[in-house]
Amino acid sequence: MKNVSLGLLMASVILSQPVLACTKDGSEGFVPKNDFFIPVGAKSISTIDETEFNAVIDQVEGIYAPIVAEYGGKLEVVRKWTDGTVNAYAEQEGNIWKVSMFGGLARHKTITADGFALVVCHEIGHHIGGVPRYGGNDWASNEGQADYFSTTKCLRRVWQNEDNAAVIRKLEVPETLMTACSKAWPNNAQDRDICVRGGMAGESVAKLFAALSWSSKAPKFDTPDTRQVGSTQDSHPATQCRMDTYFQGALCEKSFNEEIGQKDEVSGVCHSSTGQSVGLRPRCWFKPKVQ
Ligand SMILES: [Zn+2]
Repeated sequence: MKNVSLGLLMASVILSQPVLACTKDGSEGFVPKNDFFIPVGAKSISTIDETEFNAVIDQVEGIYAPIVAEYGGKLEVVRKWTDGTVNAYAEQEGNIWKVSMFGGLARHKTITADGFALVVCHEIGHHIGGVPRYGGNDWASNEGQADYFSTTKCLRRVWQNEDNAAVIRKLEVPETLMTACSKAWPNNAQDRDICVRGGMAGESVAKLFAALSWSSKAPKFDTPDTRQVGSTQDSHPATQCRMDTYFQGALCEKSFNEEIGQKDEVSGVCHSSTGQSVGLRPRCWFKPKVQ
């Protein structure tokens, strides 16, 4: 009896440890581990149904599978619609680069379809989002970088041919976001609208972080986190700080077609060393190595 239970315990330990996950120790996902669980059919949930869940994943996966292949990985998006877990994960098993998406996260009432797309982008960002990476040289881009990748690169690529004006017309866009996007993209309405849409996707997931109560204060576009880290933080930044990253990512003037730096922190992104003062990774998690 003892041997059996020990055996089971060992098996479950092994099975529950992904080879490599969203964070170095494999213990966390898009958000820190939590006890929230939102089953199919729960009350007070988002408008995302199974069809939309699959449609969003289809779209992002369709665009990014060939790009991930260029980096040597086979993108595999694991769709766990019926699983109520409020999270998402990235892991690598050899050349299979996995992203696991859970129905519980999609069903949380704060999550819009665009917010959900951002989460898919964040997880892909762990695979190809460049530096900074966990611990400096792990396979995975760190949390802040995966966030930055979502609005500087991934969502822009995904939405490039959509009627973004029509999408944002239906949203209640805070003035701070609208003004900043109009200033960042004065001559191109499509880029401005994608900036607004990216910011609103960021607001959706930042509201999720707040609801999961790692912050008592509601995240806002006009109350940036003013803290400055002494060294780059790899783990999940605070709620407002993550919102700031999405916002600045949406404002960065660099094209999504410029590859995000895989070995250096300057290529393809906005950086003070290349003269930008808007669209930078916020200092609440990022400490530039290059001045
Ligand atoms: Zn993550």
